[in-house]
Amino acid sequence: SSAPLGSSVISIVNKLQDIFARVGSQSTIDLPQVAVVGSQSSGKSSVLEALVGRDFLPRGNEICTRRPLVLQLVQTKRKPDGAEEEYGEFLHLPGKRFYDFSDIRREIQAETDREAGGNKGVSDKQIRLKIFSPNVLDITLVDLPGITKVPVGDQPSDIEARIRTMIMSYIKTPTCLILAVTPANSDLANSDALQMAGVADPDGNRTIGVITKLDIMDRGTDARNLLLGKVIPLRLGYVGVVNRSQEDIQMNRSIKDALIAEEAFFRSRPIYSGLAESCGVPQLAKKLNQILAQHIKAVLPGLRARISSQLVSVAKEHASYGEITESKAGQGALLLNILSKYSEAFSSMVEGKNEEMSTS
Ligand code: GDP
Ligand code: MG
Repeated sequence: SSAPLGSSVISIVNKLQDIFARVGSQSTIDLPQVAVVGSQSSGKSSVLEALVGRDFLPRGNEICTRRPLVLQLVQTKRKPDGAEEEYGEFLHLPGKRFYDFSDIRREIQAETDREAGGNKGVSDKQIRLKIFSPNVLDITLVDLPGITKVPVGDQPSDIEARIRTMIMSYIKTPTCLILAVTPANSDLANSDALQMAGVADPDGNRTIGVITKLDIMDRGTDARNLLLGKVIPLRLGYVGVVNRSQEDIQMNRSIKDALIAEEAFFRSRPIYSGLAESCGVPQLAKKLNQILAQHIKAVLPGLRARISSQLVSVAKEHASYGEITESKAGQGALLLNILSKYSEAFSSMVEGKNEEMSTS
């Protein structure tokens, strides 16, 4: 299966975790959380799914995401025979493993109904889902209900304010990366996503603009100026994507086919040529990976210092017992060396010199 998110940083993070384990350090790299914000049906769930590379989120042309879904990706060791076991587990159903991802979607729907009722109600009570896979980065993604203005079904009259408060409680966290999702067939100046992201992250240090539905823009219009940031500038820029349409969903079109169709879409439209860095789900994953790499690079010196002092105290302890510590100290120094090497590798990666870095 393909898991574009994390694909370029995953192996290096693994090696770092291995180093921490070998020096007996509790240090781990806490990666920032990624949350999606935008109006209802702007394509938030579709974008998250495409990034994870698996089909498991309820998507549709009316309100589908009615509770926050906190999706924790957990990396598991590949089995000795190389088999890839991927499964999901919900916090509310401990011990029950879901191997079939469409069962995961059904359970999200059922659990949404249990808490928020069957009639379009919205609740701020989280659904927590872990996906275990050897192909993922340990990262948390949050799928949020979209902003709606007019109450429908069982929704209270202040539905918009409630949803805004709920979304803000996630995206105001300074470590949360915000994917601000706006459909290309609506006016960017009216974007709920950009409006909320602008309040939560006024400097734009952690907001990526995502423009969906490039395939269904009004005839004669295109998203070139949006993607170039000429309409509303955004520090980290925009990525335009083409997700599956409602018809594609009904026909069970796979993510893989959707990615192929997306690529063909951009290739066949000269207006987007020269904008390759701003077009397509793989580019969005790449952008996120670069931000993650930057984050890791920023936390590495602290981790290095912590490991280093840990090694010193171990050495002291051993010395006070009169033990031979040379081999231990030697091992520690070696590990610190490796860590420095990674810091350098990260620098070049962050600068975009060495995108598909090899860690072998
Ligand atoms: P959310 O409410 O923001 O989570 O949006 P969903 O991901 O559930 O998508 C809402 C609807 O828009 C679904 O019917 C999707 O199939 C459709 N959709 C999402 N992105 C695109 C896109 O890029 N192109 C087209 N044609 N339809 C899309
Ligand atoms: Mg949704």
